[in-house]
Amino acid sequence: MPLYEYYCADCNSKIERLRPISQADEPVECHVCHSWRTSRKLSIFSAFSKTGGNGSSQAISGTGGCSSCAGGHCASCSSR
Ligand SMILES: [Zn+2]
Repeated sequence: MPLYEYYCADCNSKIERLRPISQADEPVECHVCHSWRTSRKLSIFSAFSKTGGNGSSQAISGTGGCSSCAGGHCASCSSR
């Protein structure tokens, strides 16, 4: 069960809640001032799962050569 962070708009308190993903966007009561004007803050975990993943290593190639030889000599490099 992921940990979500919420911030109270009235007293700026941080509220941490363990809850299922299906209830992530449901309102949370502030434990300090008991306000319901709270908003969820994106956690580091969820940010990683969106931008990460496979395919990031392919962007390294491009300094020279082709994608298969990474700067050396191969058939596709010498052709240009
Ligand atoms: Zn509050």
